[in-house]
Amino acid sequence: MKKCLAMLLCAALLAGMLCFGAAAKETQTACKGACDYYPTIIIPGLGQSSVVMVDENGAFIRDRNGKKASAFPAYLQTGKLIKTLAKPLLLSLMLQRDAGLSEAFATAIDDAFGVNACDLNAQPIGSIVTEKYPYSYANYNDEEKEVTNSHVPFEMYPTDLPRDHLYYFAYNSFGNHIGLAEELFAFIKTVQQQTGHKRVNLVPLSQGASIVSAMLGYHPEVADALHKILFVVPALDGSKIIGDVFTGRITFLDSDYLYHGFLENIRLLDAPTASLLELVLRVLPDEVWMATLNAGVKHLVENVMIRSTGMWALCPSGDYKAAAKRYLSSPEMANIKAQTDRYYQVQKQSRANIAALKDKGVQVFCVAEYDYALINVGERWNDQNGDFIIQLDSTSMGATAARVGETLPKGYQQQNTFCTNPAHNHIGPDRVVDASTGLLPDTTFYFKNQRHDLTQHNDIILKLAMQLIAHDEITDVYSSPDFPQFNYGRDVRNLHALLEKAEGVNTKLLLPSVKKELAAAVALGKETLNKTVDTADALPKAEAALSTALLHAGAKLPELQKPNVCAPLSEFLYKHFGSNGYSELWKAAVSR
Ligand SMILES: [Zn+2]
Ligand SMILES: [Zn+2]
Repeated sequence: MKKCLAMLLCAALLAGMLCFGAAAKETQTACKGACDYYPTIIIPGLGQSSVVMVDENGAFIRDRNGKKASAFPAYLQTGKLIKTLAKPLLLSLMLQRDAGLSEAFATAIDDAFGVNACDLNAQPIGSIVTEKYPYSYANYNDEEKEVTNSHVPFEMYPTDLPRDHLYYFAYNSFGNHIGLAEELFAFIKTVQQQTGHKRVNLVPLSQGASIVSAMLGYHPEVADALHKILFVVPALDGSKIIGDVFTGRITFLDSDYLYHGFLENIRLLDAPTASLLELVLRVLPDEVWMATLNAGVKHLVENVMIRSTGMWALCPSGDYKAAAKRYLSSPEMANIKAQTDRYYQVQKQSRANIAALKDKGVQVFCVAEYDYALINVGERWNDQNGDFIIQLDSTSMGATAARVGETLPKGYQQQNTFCTNPAHNHIGPDRVVDASTGLLPDTTFYFKNQRHDLTQHNDIILKLAMQLIAHDEITDVYSSPDFPQFNYGRDVRNLHALLEKAEGVNTKLLLPSVKKELAAAVALGKETLNKTVDTADALPKAEAALSTALLHAGAKLPELQKPNVCAPLSEFLYKHFGSNGYSELWKAAVSR
């Protein structure tokens, strides 16, 4: 009897294993791996994955609107923030000194960003969950589609690639970098197995490229599983912003710059708001703000950023040694340093590793953006050309460029470091970039004046990417007149909104001339959207035509220019009183 039972159990187990094995190996695609498409994995950029808060039972914490509470880049709880900051702020205002404000601000930073902290092995320890999709886009639910489309608008820019061949590798930007590289390596195997295809495409965006670069270094054999890589504004050699932060070169910790220049040049605020904020800053003595900002930065950098190997992978190789000396030289950081050292070795080899891929027949393309100075948080924000977030040298794998607003020196000759065809002209028509010194001169597309963090609103880049992941017709920057090497950046959200408004106008009541003007503006708008070769003024022209036509049709109010009333006052105060607060003005006046 016992023997029987044992045999039965064995048989059941075996059957179970066989079934499981069969289920695990069964391909999920309609083509069973036999079509001409290649499964494509998007590896998104910083913060482009859903990392959300969970409570002690692992249940999602939801905000007032029922949405899962985001943990990126911080978990913001307004009530808690007010509770922490209100009293010390009021006291500091009344006493005109640091009455606990800097300490409270540091606490608020720890509370908000601390959810992304890692332990001394660089493993995340917060109550957070990264929502992952170990299945193709064809199986996404509505929420998953919404999240992924907010970062890469697949629905807006359709691709011929079948949906069951499309994958999104979601990850925690503060996560363990070696772990992420291993996870991506395993994910490629999952995709091969689910789709039945032997080779896949990778589309790493921004920070995602650091993970791909790490994987290429740790697992060079992955080349056999790759058909094509399309790097989009890749952080292959980090960002100088992180390099500056990790080497102590933060601009706004200098009070003179904070009160005069920082806010005006940050390009995230309009000029009137920037000037108003400069006036607001003076309600406290500058020493109080400096103490507060220094405390906040110290806590953010030391308690969160330097324990994240995901963040370290964004430090340029040229800054790594100094940054590691500054933050990773103590014995307690040894385990983290061992990991960042490992990535540093790979990072220095990243261009060589990519060149090796090409030698193995993997197609490699790149999209780089330029003529947008880095955000002025780090001191070297305009040392090199960039795209607001990453310097061009990193995203273009070594292209030579003039600084933003300048051109290459007179008489500059194309270097042809990586282009062997003397017939190729790799210097852009604006003479800002020499693409021939970048690793991939024939397969790198450049977009002028394109802001990195708004890349998903550039319809041309999206259309190019959707082409490249579905087809192999485009083999280089000379393949299609629709996608030349040098193009213009743009954000088409406003044009889409204007077109929608214009098409909603009831034209029956309009004067014939206005009706005609509106129709012409709509036609121009659509023509602009259909063109994939842009010029500097095409988009502003189309937007202006639509705005004017809508105005004439009574469907839009005239836009009033906000006068910058605070600017002269802020300028006056800075000139005569430096960065002093209002309560210190008399002091400053007396001392002069
Ligand atoms: Zn297929
Ligand atoms: Zn060439």
